[in-house]
Amino acid sequence: MHQKDLAFFKKLLTEQLNELMGLANHTISSLLDVVDRAPDPLDRATLDSDRTALLRIRDRESKLIRKIKRTLESIHDGTFGICEMCEEEISLERLKARPVASHCIKCKTKTEAQEKAYG
Ligand SMILES: [Zn+2]
Repeated sequence: MHQKDLAFFKKLLTEQLNELMGLANHTISSLLDVVDRAPDPLDRATLDSDRTALLRIRDRESKLIRKIKRTLESIHDGTFGICEMCEEEISLERLKARPVASHCIKCKTKTEAQEKAYG
């Protein structure tokens, strides 16, 4: 992969990471703040279910954060854009749509088909 493309993805991923980290911190601190301040038990119940939803979002966020960090590492050690299964290059179009992709479209389709077959 060209140095130019690597720089592009590095910038993109770093920006995404910063955004997510900022968002994640914001989510959790404002959430705890609100729950602690609710005086009414009924309010607390509502807030608890809000909290569950938010924690789910946060869980997704933290998974994405881990993925982005791993991808940035792969840019650093030169394995970015290489499929983890067949070790062929992942197409630029695919990476532009999904920079954290670790499998080429062929392997991804294969894995998904298997997941479907075996549940
Ligand atoms: Zn592959």
